[in-house]
Amino acid sequence: MPVKNEFDVIIIGGGITGAGTARDCAMRGLRVLLIERQDIATGATGRNHGLLHSGARYAVKDSESAEECIRENKILRHIAANCVEDTGGLFITLPEDAETGYGLDYQATFLEACNSAGIEARAISPREAIDMEPSVNPTLIGAVVVPDGSVDPFRLCSANVTDAVLHGAKVLAYTEFLDFIREGDTILGVKVLDTRSGEKAEYRAPVTVNAAGIWGHGVAEKAGVHIGMYPAKGALLVFGHRVNNVVINRCRKSADGDILVPGDSVTVIGTTSTKVPFEECDNMEVTPDEVRLLLREGCALCPSLSSTRILRAYAGVRPLVADDSDPTGRSISRGIVCLDHESRDGVKGFVSITGGKLMTYRLMAELATDAVCRKLGVSRSCTTAETPLPGSMDGRIESVSKRFEGKPTAGQKSAAGRQGDMVNKIIFETEADKQLICECENVTLAEIKYAVRELGVRNLQDLRRRTRVGMGTCQGTLCIRKAAKALAEALGQPELAPKLAADYLDERWKGMRAVGWGDTLREMEFMQRVYKYQKPYSYDEV
Ligand SMILES: Cc1cc2nc3c(=O)[nH]c(=O)nc-3n(C[C@H](O)[C@H](O)[C@H](O)COP(=O)(O)OP(=O)(O)OC[C@H]3O[C@@H](n4cnc5c(N)ncnc54)[C@H](O)[C@@H]3O)c2cc1C
Repeated sequence: MPVKNEFDVIIIGGGITGAGTARDCAMRGLRVLLIERQDIATGATGRNHGLLHSGARYAVKDSESAEECIRENKILRHIAANCVEDTGGLFITLPEDAETGYGLDYQATFLEACNSAGIEARAISPREAIDMEPSVNPTLIGAVVVPDGSVDPFRLCSANVTDAVLHGAKVLAYTEFLDFIREGDTILGVKVLDTRSGEKAEYRAPVTVNAAGIWGHGVAEKAGVHIGMYPAKGALLVFGHRVNNVVINRCRKSADGDILVPGDSVTVIGTTSTKVPFEECDNMEVTPDEVRLLLREGCALCPSLSSTRILRAYAGVRPLVADDSDPTGRSISRGIVCLDHESRDGVKGFVSITGGKLMTYRLMAELATDAVCRKLGVSRSCTTAETPLPGSMDGRIESVSKRFEGKPTAGQKSAAGRQGDMVNKIIFETEADKQLICECENVTLAEIKYAVRELGVRNLQDLRRRTRVGMGTCQGTLCIRKAAKALAEALGQPELAPKLAADYLDERWKGMRAVGWGDTLREMEFMQRVYKYQKPYSYDEV
């Protein structure tokens, strides 16, 4: 009989690494507790490009990362089909690249490195590249096709958490790790704070896993061990529509603004790389210089970006492990770091898993879970590479045609695309359930109710991460009050609607401020007017 507050393993951090580790541990039969101080995917996991790397980007300099990427790329297409889009990718060479030593000779080196890492890459002519992706810079002098794709990090993280719970894990969001419970050189558990109620609690387990991303540096310090982490900030811009359908990369040494990724209804350009102090990792603002730089480099990949509205800017911090010798962090390996602190530092019952990438999370989780199992004397092997995640068991297209009789509505089709076979749990009982709350992303009232019932949503930010509410072209201008009403009612607290909406807008505003000129500024003015004259908290059209 399990004792309350006792587990086999406690995992700190509900980003993709912690979520994947919780899933793997639970699937191997362990009693798992996952704690996250905010919502899931609020760290680097929710602040990246969403590029499903083929590994080509790392092929020349870091063949180990390149090989890991292509292996995991193939696995994710199978186990996370409803989180991944097979866009394909192009690595283009521009005339100016030839002047800096990254001309067609470099393209040949790049091709060779890709092929020896097992990445299917082939050179095509500039004409073929333009036919494949009409938005690409037409002055290109060379292009290579690679199996890149795009991945929805929120959906992927949520699917891992959902599966962990289905396998018996306990997941506590809005629960902050404060300190360890410790006896001599052994970690016995954690002391935590429920950030909503203010209550403190203690949980015990023979093994604790530090999966706290860049904040893992501070978590490790609390255990008295040092991990040489390198906080590398990256800024990104989201454009108002999907400009390209194929990922466009620059075929040169990694540099600022050289990846353009299409995802759902938008396109994202990134990224920069700057070392920031640990104290700033919680408050990443994008600067005007970063916006200018990303726009300049983005227009080199795709000239039409210069006349495309920017929706917002955001930034994340990569959890890299390295010394201080590289001022940008670009040359630091994206390799995985799994540390058993007993053999490394003499601290028992403590493992850290960090480094890596979103797209190698499953492998990271496997390594961390292997380390946990070794400590617990458990010999069950990992099955996450073969077992599809919830939502991906059935493929997108099949689920929508099987699920709905007759012709599905736009909202039902989009829900099936986002939630995959989990769409079976969305209840379209009445006509009202089918109505669209967010028209940019086709989110229905029924999907909002489902997100509250099944996905642990408590506020509009959580809802955005699970359903894309407010993430499209209007950035919530036309839908956020309707969404606040729907969410507050689904939570059984209709009076909460104004507060939910205000908190959401406050957060969205931060991302718009950095790009507040031209069309974006006009949109911000329009937004203000709409909020002023919109019927408050009604489902009626504006
Ligand atoms: C700008 C940028 C672009 C990127 N682009 C890509 C890409 O295109 N493709 C790709 O594969 N990878 C990409 N990456 C890398 C990828 O995003 C990260 O490697 C990955 O998301 C890290 O996940 P994580 O779970 O280890 O860390 P995080 O996602 O940061 O998760 C750590 C979690 O720990 C929680 N936490 C911290 N302290 C505590 C505490 N005291 N108590 C409880 N919880 C705590 C945090 O709230 C956070 O949710 C990019 C990264 C950046 C920054």
